[in-house]
Amino acid sequence: MSGVNKRVLVTGGAGFIGSHLCERLVERGEDVLCVDNYFTGSRANIAALLGDPGFEVLRHDITFPLYVEVDRIFNLACPASPVHYQHDPVQTTKTSVHGAINALGLAKRTKARILQASTSEVYGDPVEHPQREMYWGNVNPIGLRACYDEGKRCAETLFFDYHRQHGLDIKVARIFNTYGPRMHPSDGRVVSNFVVQALRGEPITIYGEGSQTRSFCYVDDLVEALLRFMETPVGECGPLNLGNPAEFTIRELAELVLRLTDSRSRLEFRPLPSDDPRQRCPDIRRATGLLDGWVPVTPLEEGLARTIAYFRIALGLGPARTLVPAPSRSAGRASPQRPSRGVEGALSP
Ligand code: NAD
Ligand code: UDP
Ligand code: UDP
Repeated sequence: MSGVNKRVLVTGGAGFIGSHLCERLVERGEDVLCVDNYFTGSRANIAALLGDPGFEVLRHDITFPLYVEVDRIFNLACPASPVHYQHDPVQTTKTSVHGAINALGLAKRTKARILQASTSEVYGDPVEHPQREMYWGNVNPIGLRACYDEGKRCAETLFFDYHRQHGLDIKVARIFNTYGPRMHPSDGRVVSNFVVQALRGEPITIYGEGSQTRSFCYVDDLVEALLRFMETPVGECGPLNLGNPAEFTIRELAELVLRLTDSRSRLEFRPLPSDDPRQRCPDIRRATGLLDGWVPVTPLEEGLARTIAYFRIALGLGPARTLVPAPSRSAGRASPQRPSRGVEGALSP
């Protein structure tokens, strides 16, 4: 899995997951090109990498062609939270579809291996639980989430057609809810919302009764899986579920965040958005089998503590009274997780 100065393109590299991925690739000695239009990402996310000779950044919108020479492509560019992807839904679909075509065209010309950041949203509001890769999903094609869900589904179609028609070396990862430091504080996602609300003493906004479930994966665990998947043999195309199968109700998440932040915020119940999936949990047996025993090793409580520490600093609230627990190293067979650089690193042991 170790790369010897491969030229790696990360589209969406200044975003939440992308910036952690860039960091790991640079640490591994790769030659990283981060391409981003800063729609939801930021320079701050990659600030710690900017002086590194192995890291380069290009401001570019992937709906337009891109001509560079690379060996590997991680295609992550796309707004990922409902608030952001519904802000300009037409652009969201363009980013998924035109972006995929351009990234695939680039891979075809350069013979690069290419990995697509797909999503559990391809399963829509699933009637199968937990979700296995062979499940085709239950998506409303004309609803408010369709720009994202159908955009990502079409991108998967394009990946498999470029593979069948042009012999491209593809990997399709279906990422489930991922959280951690560098989430956008106003992206409206449940983890960032609850943490920010709890730290500010504002009401915790639970949509519906909070009985819907999600399975939350800490970003370091997810990035480890993406790196391993990229280096699997040719022909291992996926799709591959990547996420943490530990499932929580939204109400349980709210209570955990309140406890970990020592917050007195009250719970406030709001209407459930349309097409909001009732339950979501990945079946990761295929990933564990393919990725050398990979399983997520960061329990929700520990990942949340690290995320809370990050947001305390990002919101200018000063460091927490206690240090953040060290990443777990015992569970599963995944490699030890490294502390990230950036502001959260200041609190990492
Ligand atoms: P993010 O919004 O932080 O990152 C997306 C990045 O893409 C941002 O830096 C943004 O500026 C950039 N971008 C958006 N449109 C672009 C365009 N047209 N051209 C160039 N750059 C563009 O989101 P994230 O959570 O880091 O998600 C990264 C990828 O992972 C996305 O493709 C998302 O769909 C996928 N994903 C994320 C999750 C999750 O829970 N975070 C779950 C499933 C899938
Ligand atoms: N493309 C790109 N960079 C490249 C090669 C192609 O951005 O290095 C884009 C280009 O816009 C093209 C798209 O990828 O339209 C699809 O490329 P492909 O070769 O599949 O199709 P064609 O060029 O024949 O339309
Ligand atoms: N949610 C909530 N309060 C919030 C934000 C989200 O109750 O302030 C709920 C949302 O309705 C959904 C779940 O939390 O049921 C996860 O939402 P998120 O946007 O994080 O991810 P997704 O719905 O895309 O999985």
